[in-house]
Amino acid sequence: MTEAPYLTFELDIPGVSTGHLVVPRGADCEALSLPVFSCNRGEGPSLLITGGNHGNELEGPIVARRLIEWLPEAQTCGRVIIVPVLNPPAVEAWTRNTPIDGLNLNRTFPGRADGSVTERIADAVSRLLLPMADTIFDLHSFGPTWDFPPAVITHTIADADLMAKTLQIAEAFKLPMTLLWDYHDTIGMFDTLAHSQSKVFICAEFGSGTVGAEALAIYEAGARNALIALGLVEGEAEYPTFRQKKSSQTLETRSSDELKSPARGIFEPRCSVLDEVKQGDLIGVLHPMDSLSAVSINICTPTTSIVCAIKSGLHVEADEGVAMLARPLTSEVRLRIYRPEINWKGDHRPLASNGEYLRR
Ligand SMILES: [Zn+2]
Repeated sequence: MTEAPYLTFELDIPGVSTGHLVVPRGADCEALSLPVFSCNRGEGPSLLITGGNHGNELEGPIVARRLIEWLPEAQTCGRVIIVPVLNPPAVEAWTRNTPIDGLNLNRTFPGRADGSVTERIADAVSRLLLPMADTIFDLHSFGPTWDFPPAVITHTIADADLMAKTLQIAEAFKLPMTLLWDYHDTIGMFDTLAHSQSKVFICAEFGSGTVGAEALAIYEAGARNALIALGLVEGEAEYPTFRQKKSSQTLETRSSDELKSPARGIFEPRCSVLDEVKQGDLIGVLHPMDSLSAVSINICTPTTSIVCAIKSGLHVEADEGVAMLARPLTSEVRLRIYRPEINWKGDHRPLASNGEYLRR
């Protein structure tokens, strides 16, 4: 008989409480106990914060622990539930996927109670934690093979109201980059499940995955800003300092904006993230290593854009992504996202300076 997942404590208790989410044992491994923190201050928004969805992205679990130390004093209303590590076997092995069954937890939602360990984790989170929240922050990193600025990523959502609300909360982190990524490989993502239940889902992509003190301070400040914006904490949100600047920009990127390697070899980056590049500018060089007579190949940008991600220098296969380009999210594109019911052909109303058309 399949065992059901359970919580070792009552989430509705007022105040701070901690316990575990127990993922039942299966044929492939023993039961898992995921530590869970809850701070319940009554009426208000309900937020679920998760880290360690991918095991080699460790900024999220660290920032989650810092928020657990801060919230008991800071939180004034609503409910915050935090699970620093969603996938303990992957975090312990420092692997993106779960080493036991090879599955990517973020492609496994809503999971299966009688499935393998990754499916059982997804099932437990979907059934017992997701219903408790109207907003979810899932704390990721872009991965150790990429250079990536501190950022919040959202994907395009068909529901215009939910899209507007999601982008608003994403920008409230005030991180150096907010990226709207038109991304289609979304089956089984935690995001997709939350969106299907009309919940705001924010995927923080906290840098490249090489954990550093300065970057962690920026991520923590961003998460605090978002908690202030939600009204869970009182305070003034502030832009964290990144490269001596306090600023943020919202960009959009599509799958077609990814630059691919023309051959297999070692990729050498020649620019940095958030660099503005013109058509023909050098992004990086591919050095074929199979033959000394093979010449190195310059990889140049096809259009004026901003570099939002670049491989941090490693051996790549032909046609593997080496850089992602993006453009500022213009007010016209925002309008199309927020007001899809309008026939945009021939309708080029300018955005009012007070942002009037941004609200519905
Ligand atoms: Zn991730």
